[in-house]
Amino acid sequence: MGANDRTYKFALGTALLEAATDGRADIPLRELAVPYAMSLVHRIGQAPQARPGSVTGHTDYLAVAGEEAAESLRLGFPTEKLLAATMKSMPEMVMQKFHNLRGSGQVPHRFYEVTGTPNERIVRLTADLRTVAVSEQTASLRGELDARWSIVETSFAAGIGRSLVEEGVSVDLTTMRITDKRRRRPVTGVTEAMIGFQHGRCLICHEPVVPGRDAIAVDHVFPFSLMDRLSLMVDLDAVWNMAPAHTACNLAKSDRLPESHELSRLVRRNEAIMNSPHPLRRTLELALGPYARRGRWPGFVRHVWSQISR
Ligand SMILES: [Zn+2]
Repeated sequence: MGANDRTYKFALGTALLEAATDGRADIPLRELAVPYAMSLVHRIGQAPQARPGSVTGHTDYLAVAGEEAAESLRLGFPTEKLLAATMKSMPEMVMQKFHNLRGSGQVPHRFYEVTGTPNERIVRLTADLRTVAVSEQTASLRGELDARWSIVETSFAAGIGRSLVEEGVSVDLTTMRITDKRRRRPVTGVTEAMIGFQHGRCLICHEPVVPGRDAIAVDHVFPFSLMDRLSLMVDLDAVWNMAPAHTACNLAKSDRLPESHELSRLVRRNEAIMNSPHPLRRTLELALGPYARRGRWPGFVRHVWSQISR
């Protein structure tokens, strides 16, 4: 939930998860730099990795990565020049900021410490990181990392970023993918983008949702059938009302109204999204309308509830 001017945190997250999943405790920076650089060069030709106009000069790390991308992809390994630039850039930039939150705070856990000498830096992975890497939620976390990365780089795209910041995103209901309103192109999956904000849990039964193990559906918390029955002034077919759930839970729930504990989870989930960077936050702000100032999510959900129970 930190500020995103560049996508370095996603590359570092990817590299840290990979190392921790392999059971590493101490890893030389030189080794950690490899998956870091490769995850960036895989994306750099497809989408911008920084705000437009912020990459200046040939020595900028992203300029080097862009120049070395094709050869590194051909080799399956960063070129010497890219590896050297990566080992210089990582400790100066992203490794100092990775634990920061937007504003001034820091996350409560540390995932690594940097030790060793400037010539031979060692990254010590913490027990907290290793616990996350072997937990049943790792698959979910990888999907989420990828989803957030896609959302942020889409927000950097010329001509798209502004529309995302002003208009938010929409959902393609046939594919359950988040799309940008300008190009109508899929950005990422609804489940991958949202599951982390509900702690990787099904909104209905509150048990973990594990990609690859569980069949997953996207639940309309207030059932969509209400849209026909009542002339609601709110859109139920929107991000604020959609929540990843087990397919079985979703089928069992069918068209029933949400229970109060499900509504509390929806309120908390939406409040968590409101603490994240654009553009999901913007999408929810627009859904709130006048409630963006008064009552926020509890007030908005009570408003919808009062409309349907009239
Ligand atoms: Zn469930």
